[in-house]
Amino acid sequence: MMKEYIGNVKNRPGISGKDFKGYFVPETIKEAVELLADKGDELEILAGGTDLLVDYYEHLYEVSGWLDLRDISQLQEIKVKEDRMEIGAMVTHSQLVNSFKVKDHFPLISQAAEEVGSPQIRSRGTIGGNIVTGSPAGDLLPPLLAYQAELELVDKESKKRIAIEDFFIGPKETVIQSDQMLSKIIITLPQPGTLGSWIKIGKRKALAISTISLALVVRLDQQEQIQDIRACLGAVAPTPLEIEEVRDKMLGRKLSEIDFTEIGLLVAENISPIDDIRGTREYRKDIAKNLVITALKKLASGGEG
Ligand SMILES: Cc1cc2nc3c(=O)[nH]c(=O)nc-3n(C[C@H](O)[C@H](O)[C@H](O)COP(=O)(O)OP(=O)(O)OC[C@H]3O[C@@H](n4cnc5c(N)ncnc54)[C@H](O)[C@@H]3O)c2cc1C
Repeated sequence: MMKEYIGNVKNRPGISGKDFKGYFVPETIKEAVELLADKGDELEILAGGTDLLVDYYEHLYEVSGWLDLRDISQLQEIKVKEDRMEIGAMVTHSQLVNSFKVKDHFPLISQAAEEVGSPQIRSRGTIGGNIVTGSPAGDLLPPLLAYQAELELVDKESKKRIAIEDFFIGPKETVIQSDQMLSKIIITLPQPGTLGSWIKIGKRKALAISTISLALVVRLDQQEQIQDIRACLGAVAPTPLEIEEVRDKMLGRKLSEIDFTEIGLLVAENISPIDDIRGTREYRKDIAKNLVITALKKLASGGEG
């Protein structure tokens, strides 16, 4: 049975209850989307709260009601089904780090999750929150792009699947509507010959938002020719992005035949990083180039990670 609290929530430290009209804790996706259809404009979806509550306490916006997803067990599952993995939107970073299923099939997702924030942030923050926040620096986004994840968006009437690359439209701007929620992430299991590398550069080891991050996934055939390659970067443009020019340049060739510096320069030419306190535009371009070279060298020497 769904819980609804009006005006007084005792078990959520820091939320006084005076500041909002309703606090809903549905137990099923159906209940959640019915609420969104009815009151979507007044409700803020709450997952782990590690992005949302920071903004809320800083009074960055007004919230009149909350829709807390914590009791929807369906959103907490990681399942392997035939040729794909399905990860519920409420799966936390810690669960991604500890899941053997995720580690075996999609090691870059586990590695990225391991670098998010601190143990406390990882145990509350969720994959769904990381995606819907839509930060260009969200750590899980380059690996999810590199593995060509799809997102299931649900509203009261329908379920829709969209490619993750079509989800982000600007810094912290996505296509999700106020009557929709993200229910799961669907990723086709990698084919044999798939290798990957993930690297994050931040100012400090802990609690560092990425200055820049890279997920590189390559699939080689038995003759070691590149059948597919995705170089995806975070914090180098208004949205996380794949550098398609790398794919065009490398398909059908062997890693051993490629000039990695040329690929690094190609990446630097095709990104538009910002200047901010974490790094200048030129610094970010230079770092991006070097990250790509490092990752390609690692993959060429048979290493992963
Ligand atoms: C100290 C600190 C350090 C951090 N370090 C990092 C870091 O190193 N790397 C990094 O990537 N991030 C970092 N973050 C940001 C944050 O932890 C992550 O983005 C996290 O994954 C957010 O998940 P959440 O469940 O807490 O989202 P919430 O804060 O609950 O929600 C975020 C947004 O997503 C929406 N939302 C959540 N779930 C759904 C859903 N299923 N359907 C529709 N909308 C939804 C919410 O309405 C909200 O707009 C850090 C945050 C803090 C406070």
